[in-house]
Amino acid sequence: MSFCVVNKRNFMNRNKTRGAATKPASNGRFAKASKTAGRQTTDIGRYRRAKGSAKTADNRQKKENMKNSQQKSLSQQNAERNGVFRYGHPKGKLKVMFLGGVGEIGKNMTVFEYGDSIVVIDAGMSFPGNDMPGVDVVIPDFSYLVQNRNKIKAVLLTHGHEDHIGAIAFLVERLGGKLDLYGTKLTLALVENKLAEHSLTDKVNLVTISDKSVVSLGDFTAEFIHVSHSVAGSVAICLRTPVGVVLHTGDFKIDYTPLGNEIMNLNRIAEVGKQGVLLLMSESTNVEKAGYTMSESVVEDTMKKVFHEAKGRRIIVATFASNVDRIGMIIHLAKLYKRKIAVSGRSMIKYIETACRVGQMSVDNDIFVDIDKINNVEDGKLLILSTGSQGEPMSALTRMASGEFNKVHIGSNDTIVISATPIPGNERDIYNVINKLYRLGAMVVYSALEAVHVSGHACQEELKLIYTLVKPKYFIPIHGEYRHLKQHAMLVEKLGHKRSNIIIPDIGDCVELDNSVFKVCGTVTSGSVMVDGLGVGDVGNIVLKDRLSLAEEGILVCSVAVNEKGRVVSSVEVASRGCFFVGDDHNDAMVDELKRLLTEEIYSALRNGKNVPAVKSAIQRTARSYFRSKYKRNPVVLPLVLEV
Ligand SMILES: [Zn+2]
Ligand SMILES: [Zn+2]
Repeated sequence: MSFCVVNKRNFMNRNKTRGAATKPASNGRFAKASKTAGRQTTDIGRYRRAKGSAKTADNRQKKENMKNSQQKSLSQQNAERNGVFRYGHPKGKLKVMFLGGVGEIGKNMTVFEYGDSIVVIDAGMSFPGNDMPGVDVVIPDFSYLVQNRNKIKAVLLTHGHEDHIGAIAFLVERLGGKLDLYGTKLTLALVENKLAEHSLTDKVNLVTISDKSVVSLGDFTAEFIHVSHSVAGSVAICLRTPVGVVLHTGDFKIDYTPLGNEIMNLNRIAEVGKQGVLLLMSESTNVEKAGYTMSESVVEDTMKKVFHEAKGRRIIVATFASNVDRIGMIIHLAKLYKRKIAVSGRSMIKYIETACRVGQMSVDNDIFVDIDKINNVEDGKLLILSTGSQGEPMSALTRMASGEFNKVHIGSNDTIVISATPIPGNERDIYNVINKLYRLGAMVVYSALEAVHVSGHACQEELKLIYTLVKPKYFIPIHGEYRHLKQHAMLVEKLGHKRSNIIIPDIGDCVELDNSVFKVCGTVTSGSVMVDGLGVGDVGNIVLKDRLSLAEEGILVCSVAVNEKGRVVSSVEVASRGCFFVGDDHNDAMVDELKRLLTEEIYSALRNGKNVPAVKSAIQRTARSYFRSKYKRNPVVLPLVLEV
């Protein structure tokens, strides 16, 4: 795997364009490799699952608080709430650096640095935009972490969605050495699947944490707090630093009736808030939506109705493979309604297997039937679980809708539930699939009609609740495009938060803070590294530009052979892909005319003693201006001059 950084541009001005580019540090201080020898302690030994010890710690804390409140003045207590005394008088400031997930959706990654300690929260990927043809995934630029490798204590993972763990394998590969990864059992099992694909499992120490786990990591202590989200095993992270407490929410929603048995630990968040939080970093995905996100159990109610009404009919449900609680619920309903289950789609099978392996889902194996054998099962006794809830072109549901999936043929006895909402940008694909399913005679139930899906992200009222419980001194909105972050900032301002104590970060920003300072102090190298096949970072802006113009205008190859005396020894040949169709009478005449023009130009260039590069540019110039003036087209022209 080769790593190189794409298109180094100077992003000194933070307001310049961003996107498929890497942003070098504006501040040499942070870009320099650290010369300090790291205290490479793993700290795993010190990690404890603080169930028993949490109680004693709590009691100790209570006694300490009581003693303090007797001795200290009110202003001192207020100062303590803001972290001044609790941590003594810290020498340095905390640096928070954003390698992704701000000003964009996806590739979430935040770096916390104090002294010789670095802790990273999440290492996610994002999917390529329409302007990145052929790119498989996009990952953050890890340069800063590579330069400061010896300081890195651990990578903490909030949950197992791709935008939080999708870049882990690339990070492990790039950093070298052994990396400590902390996450809940499902998150780590999903990470393990990824690492196994890249043969990297021996390059990490996986440390399983759960709600209330506390781990010590150099100058930091991290506590994990369970939150509700659309994948099981999601946590917020409370990072205790020498300058004060930072609470990072990860992705969350507040669900009082979630499907699993894990209830969000709101109590602990309130306690942490009471002890005093210096900085709250809260996710912003659903900040534009007023009110509350509906509970996941609403989906269960709708699904029950679907099962009830679809008596005698075959049911096909497409949903996000990662929402293992929802899939578990659907499997449970199938059992209740005495249906066998066939699973279709590689990722769906993988998630079910993984969730069962770690005990997040429990199913009887004999309920499953092989997708190849579904013809032996009556329609009314079958449920097919499928991928493709986003209309992904190669997914099972999309192929069923197009009649290209030979194992499942859609007909009028099918009820198809699409338990998802289109992710922005996917609307057209998914509605195309729905149209096709209707044309085949099926009944389709989707989120515009019934509550078959709820979001995993907090709406305004939930965001307000978390903010109010935590009441931080400083606030940074995270996880969202600029408009989301801006609206989240405005939301907390309405709750009485001082504008000067809010920072809306840009990718690459380094925020410096302690009890009296809170500012952007510089930038570190950041950006988008594109992965195409096995190449990491070798597709840059120039390659992308070529791919885009090839897609839009096609290519024209013009070739000719010349000998060492500079004489033309073959006729000029013209070939096209995506530019015009050869074989059409009109086009053949056009090709003849172009060939004649090119031959004249080549002869005249050679007569004037021009070398091969000059002949090539003559070919390019002639072909381009011919197409531009005659057809208003701009194909990519590739001149080939063979020297024989
Ligand atoms: Zn998520
Ligand atoms: Zn996310």
